[in-house]
Amino acid sequence: MPKQRICAYCQKKAKLTREHIWPSCLISRMPELQVNYLGKKHVLMAGDLVVADVCADCNNKKLSPLDAYFCSLYDQYFKDFKEDLTPFTLTYDYDLLLRSLLKITYNSSRTVTRDYNDFETYRDYILNGNKMHPNILVKLDIVQPTIIDARKFYPSSARCGTIQLGGPMPNFLVRFISVNSFYFYIILSKSAVLKNDMEEEFYRIFDNIQGTIVHPYRQEVIVDTFSDIDTQGSHQDLLANTHDIYLAYKDKKRR
Ligand SMILES: [Zn+2]
Repeated sequence: MPKQRICAYCQKKAKLTREHIWPSCLISRMPELQVNYLGKKHVLMAGDLVVADVCADCNNKKLSPLDAYFCSLYDQYFKDFKEDLTPFTLTYDYDLLLRSLLKITYNSSRTVTRDYNDFETYRDYILNGNKMHPNILVKLDIVQPTIIDARKFYPSSARCGTIQLGGPMPNFLVRFISVNSFYFYIILSKSAVLKNDMEEEFYRIFDNIQGTIVHPYRQEVIVDTFSDIDTQGSHQDLLANTHDIYLAYKDKKRR
């Protein structure tokens, strides 16, 4: 008898379906997402990444509106590369934006492990929303194109990963989700309540992560605080990590 498994979101026993890590509407808009790097396994994979542990109910009723929202932001903002750091207004629904970002993060974290997962705490919030999370902060940074020999290189990609800053981080996690020029950083405390002795660590992280705060109680923000990270800088880690396997991947495809 096949082992019954529980849905990664509602935790009910059900027939499980495939769930894309990136919204499928985003994949259809960004064909370059067809090649993926799995950091923990150090491999490149063709085809979009999926996790096969979400029930049809969650997938179709609760999660697909988040995908639709994220893709509407793509159409309105992410699809156009920012050529420079001119301030602009971002109009958003904080609840839908944060849930979309957490969903991508939670999905991508399950390709690594399901046993102990820091993002499991947000299952219910991702599904149902309507809850404030004072222990989460979102910042948005804009990555400019790099100019090399008069040629412009755009940050054309969608990525999701962990940020390791210098120094210990016992109480907080930092994740980034980026689509083209838009780099969202989420700072999350591991506990729901912020304690006084976490302050020093929080400010060390906060000061190290550039960008504009996406305010939880507003519907729009003027994005006017930027780092000086360009395409090359933002992809350096990835380029360094994947150069060898990318060559191997291309080589295999040629054969
Ligand atoms: Zn479910």
